[in-house]
Amino acid sequence: MSASLATVFRECHRLRRHLRDLKDEIDRGPRILKARQTHLANEEQAHKLAYDTIKKLKLKQKDDEGSLKTIEQQLSRLATRAMEVTTMKEMQATKSEIDQATAKKNILEDTILETILDVEDRTADLPNVEKRWADAQAEFKEYQVEAKERLDRMIEDQKRCDAELLKQDAQIPPEVFGQYSRLVKGYGPDGLAGLKGLICQQCRSKVTEGQRNDLEGGAFVCCSSCGRALYPTGD
Ligand SMILES: [Zn+2]
Repeated sequence: MSASLATVFRECHRLRRHLRDLKDEIDRGPRILKARQTHLANEEQAHKLAYDTIKKLKLKQKDDEGSLKTIEQQLSRLATRAMEVTTMKEMQATKSEIDQATAKKNILEDTILETILDVEDRTADLPNVEKRWADAQAEFKEYQVEAKERLDRMIEDQKRCDAELLKQDAQIPPEVFGQYSRLVKGYGPDGLAGLKGLICQQCRSKVTEGQRNDLEGGAFVCCSSCGRALYPTGD
């Protein structure tokens, strides 16, 4: 293998691997975008939920206050009745009703107070809710700008490397080009493998001194273990 062919193979291997990495990263783009969109949608949902919850709590408070009013009216009627009853039996029945209504009233009052405090806390937290939502939107926008810039850069890089690879491929002698093509078609970039010392960098097998010498002498040599076209790594 001539020194220049070794250089060509080394460069082809580097370019093909780089192109594969670029393609992988470009292909990952839509999945990352989808994950970002899901995150943004979740944040939007959380923002909406914060307001919806306060709204619901306020409605509940209103309902409970209505029920409290009804019970207070009931208690007032019972108090009047208690003064009018004549028998012990009637007295006991009224007292039992008053006790039940009073217990209900206490529970409602406690519940209303809890709701009021809950609404206060949630309302006080609204600036944080707003900030979180604003941050999420800004972050997404920033991601979109960066992702686009990055994609543009990668596509440019891809074009440049494709053109460079064509040039390198064109320098491969016709008598080995068929084998080279089959290898990179079958194995992708790793149809080529560096040989470091006697070790194939693809499969870690050892080639013979003879093979190494053939390679140094300019022959086209494939690893007898993994079949990849070898080139000296040069280090
Ligand atoms: Zn090998």
